[in-house]
Amino acid sequence: EGFLPFEHEPYFNFGQEDVAQRQREAYRRVREGYLGRTFPLYIGGKPVEGGETFEVRNPADTREVVWHFPKATAEQLEEAIRCAKVAFEEWRFSDPMQRATIFKRAAELLRTRRMEFNAVMGLENGKNWAEADGEIAECVDHFEVFARETLKWAQGKPVYPMQGEHVTMVYEPIGVVAVISPWNFPAAIPLGMALGAIAAGNTVVWKPASETPLSSLLLVELLFEAGLPRNVIQFLTGTDEVLGDPLVDHKDIRMIAFTGSKEIGCRIMERAAKVQPGQKWLKRVMAEMGGKDPTVVCADADLDAAAQGIVQAAFGYAGQKCSACSRVIAEESVYDELLDKVVSLARDLKVGSPEENAPLGPVIHEGSANRIMGYIEKGRGTARLVLGGERADSGEREGGYVQPTIFADVDPKDPLFQEEIFGPVLSFTRARDWRHAIDLANDSEYGLTAAFYSRDPGKIGEARRLIHVGNLYVNRKCTGALSGTHAFGGYGMSGTNAKVGGPDYLFWFLQTKTVAQKY
Ligand code: GLU
Repeated sequence: EGFLPFEHEPYFNFGQEDVAQRQREAYRRVREGYLGRTFPLYIGGKPVEGGETFEVRNPADTREVVWHFPKATAEQLEEAIRCAKVAFEEWRFSDPMQRATIFKRAAELLRTRRMEFNAVMGLENGKNWAEADGEIAECVDHFEVFARETLKWAQGKPVYPMQGEHVTMVYEPIGVVAVISPWNFPAAIPLGMALGAIAAGNTVVWKPASETPLSSLLLVELLFEAGLPRNVIQFLTGTDEVLGDPLVDHKDIRMIAFTGSKEIGCRIMERAAKVQPGQKWLKRVMAEMGGKDPTVVCADADLDAAAQGIVQAAFGYAGQKCSACSRVIAEESVYDELLDKVVSLARDLKVGSPEENAPLGPVIHEGSANRIMGYIEKGRGTARLVLGGERADSGEREGGYVQPTIFADVDPKDPLFQEEIFGPVLSFTRARDWRHAIDLANDSEYGLTAAFYSRDPGKIGEARRLIHVGNLYVNRKCTGALSGTHAFGGYGMSGTNAKVGGPDYLFWFLQTKTVAQKY
């Protein structure tokens, strides 16, 4: 396709002092340049300022307000959807090569600003350097992947021939796509959904999480700078009353691309099913929801590798990933040894400020910390607490700091085993043997990611066949899917299995036209 071979964006090595220095410097510049500012909405290609605003706070110290964003009004939502509809009439016929070129240019621009984007994200959602860097590198990958996917899908697909007719099958865009995204991956998740829409020739109304709007806005502005016609994305921040149900319900919305909680995903699915007066299609819903992701450890596994993978996947970004490992299921004979190894690694995780690159930072806000503590309090009565279990000491700071927490001997019926906690809380459960372990792994309404540790090809084969998840990782951790390679999306109540970053993702944003022509 004329592009160089694809390579994943390499991560920064913050262990090198000069690289660490650049990240500190980027924080300093972001604080100097952005702190206290009020940012705009974008509607019809124009920045829109004024009106009521809301505060964005630093989760590392919630007394600190970092910046402000507008509360969009109902009229602004209406106007944004109207602009997206108008823009669609042009963008739908745009040259796929033009789209691909914009994405390639955006990748180039982002490569030069990764440190800055990392710092903005750290201040909004409390990711430390490496976690933020992983996500911004994923954004670069998304641009590169979607550039290629755009051209791929522009080809159509061959059909079986027929005498006397010339038959083609091509893919066409569908309309205005609402993108509704969470705070835990405020850059890579909405970018994946928005690029899917745009690469396919659709236009977008983008509603980021209110905790993390700047991480999203910077990407929108980057796309504009790269040459995206400015009316292709409308960017709206504000309250759920104005931008939640009314956006989903609107008759001119063709599709909702959502990532977030199961509760909201189900709500969107239900509301979108209702055909509104004047609506001329059945809405499509892409809903990527939660996980209760298991790591299965067989008796023959490399226990040190397993322990490391578990600790990274369970406590990276304080467990606030839908891909996070929250259940360890280990064979009886290695259970205690594995538990010891995991506890001793997790005990060493220092809790502190993401801006200073602490391994374990705060959870997103106080409400979340309280919810997590609720699970921990109940867990004390039903399982054996072996590590943590308290709010963590954060010195001077005010924030949702929670100790890395591990419960052992958790019963499969326990909420600790069944419910998504979205915090640094890990459960251990004993399995009689490895087959029992696979059954326990599957004992969940979710099915997003799983890790399976064994050296035995027979067991690995069974795990590949039987574990009911969208992303199974063998002998490696269950977080950190890479765009283009690990098509991401789950089974069961984890959602619609859209598989962002995968070879079929764009199909979600397209419809198929067959043209049979006689000469
Ligand atoms: N794609 C991310 C990963 O593989 C997880 C995304 C999420 O938590 O929503 O770790």
